[in-house]
Amino acid sequence: MPENDSVSVRIEALAAQLDGWGCTPEEIDEVRRAQGVDLPRSYETFLRVLGRDGGGLMGGTEVCFGEIAQVRRWAIDLLEENRAQHPDEEVFRLPDDAVVISSHQGYVFEFVRTSLGDDPPVEWWSEGSTSLGRSTVGAASIADWLERELVARDRRSEEALRSHRRSIQAMRRRRFQPEMCPTCGGNLQWRGEIVYQAGDPNSGRDRQIAMCAAEGRSFWRWGDEPDTPLR
Ligand SMILES: [Zn+2]
Repeated sequence: MPENDSVSVRIEALAAQLDGWGCTPEEIDEVRRAQGVDLPRSYETFLRVLGRDGGGLMGGTEVCFGEIAQVRRWAIDLLEENRAQHPDEEVFRLPDDAVVISSHQGYVFEFVRTSLGDDPPVEWWSEGSTSLGRSTVGAASIADWLERELVARDRRSEEALRSHRRSIQAMRRRRFQPEMCPTCGGNLQWRGEIVYQAGDPNSGRDRQIAMCAAEGRSFWRWGDEPDTPLR
C-alpha cells in the first residue's frame, strides 16, 4: 500500500525529530470509540507516534491522549451554545463523519473528516469568528498541521521554542509516568510558571513546580531539563 505509507512517512519523521511518544493500540481504540467514527489513517498515525506527548507541540491545546476524551462533545456543545446565542444566524453543524482532533481554550476546535480519505485537511471552527456558519481549512493535512507548529510565529527564538516544547512534553509525559516526591514518595501536584525579567538569562524559560501536600513544601526544575533532579 505505497500511497498509504506515504501518508505516514512525514508524520513518523516528525515524531522521530521531536522524540515523540505515541499511544498504545488500546488507547487508539479508546479514541475511536469516543469519536464514534473511523479515524483517517493520517490521524491514526499521529496518535500512534505522537499521541501521548505530541512531541511538545501545541501546548495549551487539548490534542493528546488524556486530554481529548471529551473534545467531540465539547465541540458539539460549543456549536449548540452558539446556535442559542445567535438565533438569527446560521451556525455550523459538525458533520457526522468529523473526528474532532483538538480543542483550544473552549472556543475553537479542529477536526478532520473521515470520508475524505486517508489524509484529509484539518478544518477549524471558532466562536467569535465572522463566519459562524462554516468551518475553515487551516492545514492541507495532519502532517502540515504539525509542521506549522514547528515554525515560530512570533519573535521567540528557535531555542526558546525548543525549550518550551520540551517542557510541554515533560508535563504531558508525567500523565503516563507519574513522578513521586523525592523526599517522602508521596503524590506531587504540578504547575508551570514562566517569569519574564529583563536581564535574566532564564527569562521566559518554563519552570515546573511540584507541590508535596503531605510535607507542605514544593520543589522545582527547569521544564526543558526533565532528567535533572527536583530542587
Ligand atoms: Zn513529600
